[in-house]
Amino acid sequence: MNHVIKDLINKHGTPFYIFDEKGFVENYNELNRTFKDIYPNYQISYSYKTNYTPFICNLVKSLGGYAEVVSDLEYHLAKKLGYENSQIVYNGPSKGDAMYEHLENGGILNIDSIDETKQISEYCKAHTGKSYTCGLRINMYLGDNFISRFGLSPDGDELQKAVDIINSTPNLKLIGLHCHISRHRGLEAWTKRVKTMIEIADKYIDGTPEYISLGSGMFADMPDFLKEQFGGDTVPGYKDYAEVVVKPFAARYKNSERKPILFTEPGTTVVARYMSFVSKILSIKDVRGRHLANMDGDYHNLGEICTMKKLPVEIIPCGKKQQPYTNLDIMGFTCLEQDLMYPGFDGSVAAGDTLIFNNVGGYSIVSKPQFIKPQSAMFAIRQNGSVKQIMRAETFDDVFSKFCFEF
Ligand SMILES: *Cc1c(COP(=O)(O)O)cnc(C)c1O
Repeated sequence: MNHVIKDLINKHGTPFYIFDEKGFVENYNELNRTFKDIYPNYQISYSYKTNYTPFICNLVKSLGGYAEVVSDLEYHLAKKLGYENSQIVYNGPSKGDAMYEHLENGGILNIDSIDETKQISEYCKAHTGKSYTCGLRINMYLGDNFISRFGLSPDGDELQKAVDIINSTPNLKLIGLHCHISRHRGLEAWTKRVKTMIEIADKYIDGTPEYISLGSGMFADMPDFLKEQFGGDTVPGYKDYAEVVVKPFAARYKNSERKPILFTEPGTTVVARYMSFVSKILSIKDVRGRHLANMDGDYHNLGEICTMKKLPVEIIPCGKKQQPYTNLDIMGFTCLEQDLMYPGFDGSVAAGDTLIFNNVGGYSIVSKPQFIKPQSAMFAIRQNGSVKQIMRAETFDDVFSKFCFEF
């Protein structure tokens, strides 16, 4: 793959993103197969907000994945890619007006609050003669004194209140449940998650639910260097999750005539490993004993993960004489002190070398602000090895054209 990247550096210069289509498809199929083998009604719903690159969303669609959206922006993209509403899952606490269009077209919609339940109930009451369906997001406490802001809590009367509002709306039916907890990725937390969701479905839903969505938050497939930082061999794989999540689920609905769809909503889990960011070292300097490299990319390009872990980095030498460094802080182009792409790098590099930051598929391109330098281009390395540009670089005009220039 690195010779393709060298070609791109020569042709286009840096910085840019690389998407590995083959790796993505193999990993996606691996997750899908592992879960579907145990429970054929398993369905992946890809989290758009994690990485909404249309090429990737379309790839997911071609692999049979649904679209998981949390805003009208993402809903709009899913529709543009040709999704039917029945294959779009609309979640989140701040839905836009498209939620009514989605409701109207029989889409999957998970309500986050009592106020939202009321709004939807009122909409349904104003449209008698038609019938509507919805799901509820469940708030789950999984320990560590952390209270999630999302969903309705089954402890207390909040969830019951929302269910009562739905049940008193003649043309609205509760057909599914949803939860998503981005922390607590371990097997124990997942065991509790599935158990709780089944209990709540048994208690609040008439008959068999049409779906239960367990959200995302499984550890991703990742390079060993990163895995070590998350606990090495203790990091569960898809087979481990399938044992504690899919098996009990399949057992619960073994005798049901109609099997509920079991959704998970992976974002990071399926995309993180398959995107890299390629950026050049512009200068290296020593300031009061602190070793610093300045890059032509920034920490927003890499996403939040670079603030928590050291990313796997590869070096493409430019041919100039490299110097050995210990504790080299690799800094981005912004004029922010905290723009640290990699803290304390140990290795030999020279100004002019290019670094490939791997595992940057999650919350990177979607979180890059128009701050100081616009967004970089993206290339896909296709399954047959060919290269396709899937996003052009942002232009200065992209940044300024929305402002008023009549003074
Ligand atoms: C963000 C989000 C996801 C995806 O989470 P990742 O950690 O990126 O995999 C799934 N479901 C919901 C409701 C989300 O908000």
